[in-house]
Amino acid sequence: MTGLGLFGIITVCSTLAVFIVCLALYCRIQTKRHFKCPYCGARFKMPGMRTFFAARQGTDRLLFCPQCGQSGYMENIPDADYEAEKTEEKEDGRT
Ligand SMILES: [Zn+2]
Repeated sequence: MTGLGLFGIITVCSTLAVFIVCLALYCRIQTKRHFKCPYCGARFKMPGMRTFFAARQGTDRLLFCPQCGQSGYMENIPDADYEAEKTEEKEDGRT
């Protein structure tokens, strides 16, 4: 094996490794996030693998809503934000 060939393999492997790590991290982040349909208000989860390659606009992703079938940019919301929103609503109801 020539030195140049080995260097090429290392370059390809490291690029691939970085890409896989990014994808894995993204998938992990997405397990704690969900999307909200702007048309019907449905909230749904999507596998990170599917949204990673979807067209994006900021944090929004171009997706099909599983509820109403509309396609559009769906807001990507962290589950924690939604949980906080729910508890706020509960507290509002009490007062
Ligand atoms: Zn919808």
